[in-house]
Amino acid sequence: MKLLHDIIIAIDGYSSCGKSTLAKNLARILLYRHIDTGAMYRAITYWALKNNFIDIKTSSINTKTIIDSLSQVMIEFRYNNKTLSNELWLNETFIEEEIRTPIVSEYTSQISQIPEVRQKMVQLQQQMGQNKRIVMDGRDIGTVVFPNAELKIFMTADPYIRAQRRYDELITKGIRISLEEVLNNIKERDYLDTHRNISPLRKASDAIVLDNSHLTKEEQLEWVIERIKERFPYEH
Ligand code: C5P
Repeated sequence: MKLLHDIIIAIDGYSSCGKSTLAKNLARILLYRHIDTGAMYRAITYWALKNNFIDIKTSSINTKTIIDSLSQVMIEFRYNNKTLSNELWLNETFIEEEIRTPIVSEYTSQISQIPEVRQKMVQLQQQMGQNKRIVMDGRDIGTVVFPNAELKIFMTADPYIRAQRRYDELITKGIRISLEEVLNNIKERDYLDTHRNISPLRKASDAIVLDNSHLTKEEQLEWVIERIKERFPYEH
């Protein structure tokens, strides 16, 4: 599908709503770039864990050292022709698998509350969208990163359905975890993401809501494409 004007599509919403899957599929159809900003916050968290800036025994986070060492973090996305997706590299290392583990999920909402971390990530994200033609998903894309994005979608779904989907995904990957743990993590992240002082998750006033509790991936994609066709001229 070819749009006649280049646009930015911002997809925000709760954890495990399928934002990245939808954003990736949409980017493929439009021949746009897909950026999963959650992966960027996960990468910083992974880096902090690896360098022992987070003590998992006491759950304490050495915020000062993280801030002081932030200049050592280089995050980039590289397109993989085989998987047809943009993959995250941290300091020249491929870490797509490592950033999806439960321990990283557990700490990311806290690390993403550090203002200096957000500042660095938002700056990078804005650079990535300089030439538009991008589908970016996260929590603050339509509100902070690209408040003028041409299309904003806010995704939500029943927490139990989200937990079941994430649980199935983790089990398929061989990660041992209970459904209850997954649900608790989702609820905790929802709370932290919506209650933090800096860039809390909220629906932009001009975003359209997509509740995908009972929609398949294909139905969600069709829904967004319809919204795009209604709003923007495209080549027939
Ligand atoms: O999207 P994903 O679940 O991978 O994001 C992991 C965490 O990163 C979220 O729970 C949230 O705390 C943080 N995040 C954020 N701002 C974004 C994207 C993600 O604070 N734009």
